Amino acid sequence: MKRDYYEILSVGRDASNEEIKKAFRKIALDCHPDRRPGDREAEDRFKEAQQAYAVLSNPETRQRYDRYGFDGLRGQGGFEDFGARPFESLFQDIFDEFFGARGGRPGRPDARGRRGEDLLYSLRISFTEAFRGTEKEIPLTRNSTCPECRGHRAKAGSGEKTCSKCRGRGEVYLRQGFITVAQTCRQCRGRGKIVDEPCAHCRGSGRVPGEKKLTVKIPPGVDTGVRLRVEREGEGGIEGGEPGDLYLQLEVESHPLFQREGANLHLEVPLSFSQAAVGTDLEVPTPEGQEKVKIKPGVQTGDTVSLKGRGMPSLNGYERGSLYLHLLVETPANLTKRQKELLTEFDRIESEKSSGSKVQRFWEKVREIFQ
Ligand SMILES: [Zn+2]
Ligand SMILES: [Zn+2]
Repeated sequence: MKRDYYEILSVGRDASNEEIKKAFRKIALDCHPDRRPGDREAEDRFKEAQQAYAVLSNPETRQRYDRYGFDGLRGQGGFEDFGARPFESLFQDIFDEFFGARGGRPGRPDARGRRGEDLLYSLRISFTEAFRGTEKEIPLTRNSTCPECRGHRAKAGSGEKTCSKCRGRGEVYLRQGFITVAQTCRQCRGRGKIVDEPCAHCRGSGRVPGEKKLTVKIPPGVDTGVRLRVEREGEGGIEGGEPGDLYLQLEVESHPLFQREGANLHLEVPLSFSQAAVGTDLEVPTPEGQEKVKIKPGVQTGDTVSLKGRGMPSLNGYERGSLYLHLLVETPANLTKRQKELLTEFDRIESEKSSGSKVQRFWEKVREIFQ
């Protein structure tokens, strides 16, 4: 029984060409005979993926396979007849990318070199730092372009010669039955060229490990999940390639009082029963300090006071978010005898008033219904 090609590559039937290529690249990297010499199982998986990719990467054979399954491919030549694309070309696009084997191949410029990898750094900052913006010094361990050979691997004055084993192609092709397996040339590691005399400083790798303390600016208004890019501070490039970028993955600590929601802040403000009834002046906390706020008489639990422009700064704009005060009226409990007397008196006066409160209207309605 043959396994379904989509299943072999672990992609959906609607996968794009790019996804198919990526999936194959992953398996190929993992199981390539060059990496796991002598591992029969890996070799079988590799061959299987190779077939699946050959069929699915060609729109014509993919369509035939989608419509008629394996029968659609049986054609004249059996499974090795995969239409127009020979295995060599198929390997060229895949392996070029992962071994960075640009050098020396006819028709392929090697001027751009190999770009350095991007780096990701997790950074935790306080709420206040996120509010004001901050500067952080972070210790980076990374490979930088070798200062001696400037990433070109060769000792000053020495040149490069075409690899004799692959004759500059960077890979060698081995025919195994139906299947041609492209192997990265071991002698030049896929570069097609060999350095005459390797640079002593980086031992011919083009890069040297190092540490650097980097100062980064964090703008005001960042939030957890924001990723900042610091250009050209990733790993160094080789053979003239650009350095990669550094990404800062931010985590902002929560505040003991404020609940943050984007640029807006929420704060629960408890009020005593009498404060809510009579109104009061409160000193409420804001991200910048205390601020006087007037609470008008008669507020209820659930009422909100919004302070415009007292929230967090927004990352890109000039406007600041709001600070919302959510009022919470506390019913007095554990009353003293005197308090009880006063409140009973209060209640008597309240029920004598002609204008109906919600409480009065409620009991009137109850009376109407049960009389
Ligand atoms: Zn070679
Ligand atoms: Zn060097």
